[in-house]
Amino acid sequence: MNGINPNNNDNKNDNNNFFNDNPILAFVIFSLIIVLVFKTFFSDGGLMSDSSGGKTPVTQTKSVKYSDIKELIKKDELQSVKITSSTVEAMSKVGGVKYVAQNVPAFDEKLIPLLEEKKIPYEGVVGESLFSQIISSLLPILVFFGIWMLLVKKMSKGMGGGILGVGKAGKLINSEKPEVKFDDVQGVEEAKDEVKEIVDFLKYPERYIALGAKIPKGLLLVGPPGTGKTLLAKAVAGEASVPFFSVSGSSFVEMFVGVGASRVRDLFEQAKKDAPAIIFIDEIDAIGKSRASGASMGGNDEREQTLNQLLAEMDGFGTDTPVIVLAATNRPEILDAALLRAGRFDRQVLVDKPDFEGRLAILKVHSKDVKLALNVDLEIVAKQTAGLAGADLANIINESALLAGRNNKTQIEQSDLLEAIERSFVGLEKKNRKINDIEKKIVSYHESGHALLAELTKGARKVTKVSIIPRGLGALGYTLHLPDEEDRFLMQKSELLAEIDVLLAGRAAEDVFLGEISTGASNDLQRTTDILKSMIAVYGMSDVAGLMVLERRQHSFLGNGASSSEYSEKMAEAMDDFIKATLATHYESVKATLRLYSDAIEEMVQVLLEVEVIEGSKVRSIIEKHEIANNLESRLASKRA
Ligand code: ADP
Ligand code: ZN
Repeated sequence: MNGINPNNNDNKNDNNNFFNDNPILAFVIFSLIIVLVFKTFFSDGGLMSDSSGGKTPVTQTKSVKYSDIKELIKKDELQSVKITSSTVEAMSKVGGVKYVAQNVPAFDEKLIPLLEEKKIPYEGVVGESLFSQIISSLLPILVFFGIWMLLVKKMSKGMGGGILGVGKAGKLINSEKPEVKFDDVQGVEEAKDEVKEIVDFLKYPERYIALGAKIPKGLLLVGPPGTGKTLLAKAVAGEASVPFFSVSGSSFVEMFVGVGASRVRDLFEQAKKDAPAIIFIDEIDAIGKSRASGASMGGNDEREQTLNQLLAEMDGFGTDTPVIVLAATNRPEILDAALLRAGRFDRQVLVDKPDFEGRLAILKVHSKDVKLALNVDLEIVAKQTAGLAGADLANIINESALLAGRNNKTQIEQSDLLEAIERSFVGLEKKNRKINDIEKKIVSYHESGHALLAELTKGARKVTKVSIIPRGLGALGYTLHLPDEEDRFLMQKSELLAEIDVLLAGRAAEDVFLGEISTGASNDLQRTTDILKSMIAVYGMSDVAGLMVLERRQHSFLGNGASSSEYSEKMAEAMDDFIKATLATHYESVKATLRLYSDAIEEMVQVLLEVEVIEGSKVRSIIEKHEIANNLESRLASKRA
């Protein structure tokens, strides 16, 4: 229930599920299930057991001694008898009881005359029993084998080769000849410049070899997910029109021991045969994790073998072989140092999120194939998408086309694009999720509080829209602040404090106007605490620690890099006290503002309850009206000035 942080789209590689990580375990579990199924179907009491009786249905099965059955025959109580190599089964004349004697010692030659004497029909089923025994022990094995083959096939499909193809000289490794050109990749100009020279190596290798130049072997593309690393690698192959061999580091981790290494061998063998060629290894961090850090997790032999093989291959071919290995990662800091050594991935190229111009160019590339209305202004879209990567932008264009289609339009209009942007920032609109009236009221006050403080606090971002339509997971309502300037790399202290006020205002509004507080503010409160903590421990913005940095953040593209903190218990206590006190003062001042503007809040709540959404401009006019009516010194105007 708060403003939206635009930098939250970095989780694309975290969807490995349990069975993908543990194919062998999956196999074992499968086998166990199959064994159980066969045990039930092919043993006594299961489907095949009811052949002893004639017409009478079995209502009860009794395990008895062989002598008991003989006794029953003598008493003439049996309807039929079935003799197998080791058991005797008998059906009673009345009651549908089936007697089963296991472990009949040896064949009793007196049994048959006895049965004939009593005229009880009997049958021997030695052969059939043996047959079914064989079947029931062989079939599971056959089924295991079948399932195993299926598993193997499925796994190898994803990798373009086969586990069973080990040693068959990589015929199973696929390559493609991409059509992608450099013009399709935008917003990453420096990275493009760096890889351009590779194209020339690949196109005219003889030229460089004749000069004795060493062709670079490996190049590491580093950057957040969705910024176009794969696309750029493809464009290199496309521009040079050479084959493109692509594997994903994470696919190696799923393989059986030894398979990854031989896959790497095959991959290089095939690429060398087709040289000049590009090998692209996506998510190289999956195999290239620093071995030091991997060991603490119990190690992973498979990964290590694969990594060693990769290193060996890269060392193995000479600089006169025009095969270039491009690898991509968003976590360069965890890579094994051995990978980055000279002659391996000794060049790193940053593929970063695009700036305004870059976003505009990417939007243009992706809108080539869709129908935009003539008056659509992509600059507006580029302005409102600061912090998004190329993949998000491509997605926004596509989403807007889907929206326009759903509304029976023949062209995409600006409003469709805006809606698509909002969706990508806050997740899908969930019109079908009904919130009850009490919740609606709470959320209305909460969001109105956020919106009011955002408009009145210097340094806070303007409100674009307030809504109580639940969107995405968890958020019952939201106050949207799209970044109004394009890119921000620095935050001033006053802006951080302003954000704290805006975040606190949701809870404060519930408190002031409803006299009760809800659980809806927990995310807001978490963020205020985080901001204050960083101000003290990371940015040196408090009197508690002065300029001393208490927490080191390792830079990471994912923004969740490890942080190490080192400070005394006394300092920790001082920090806690400071955070608590600051929050309390700010909370009080926010409540005072809310009380001063209570009419404005009530009016916003009224509108929200009625139509569920207020545009930013409407919020501002409500506040302005209130300031004039109450003769207030206009904070709205002074903020805008
Ligand atoms: P990465 O490999 O960095 O995770 P991808 O190259 O797979 O990102 O990007 C996914 C898709 O997003 C691309 O196929 C392309 O459609 C779009 N895209 C991403 N970055 C760019 C860019 N810089 N220029 C144009 N399109 C891009
Ligand atoms: Zn909130």
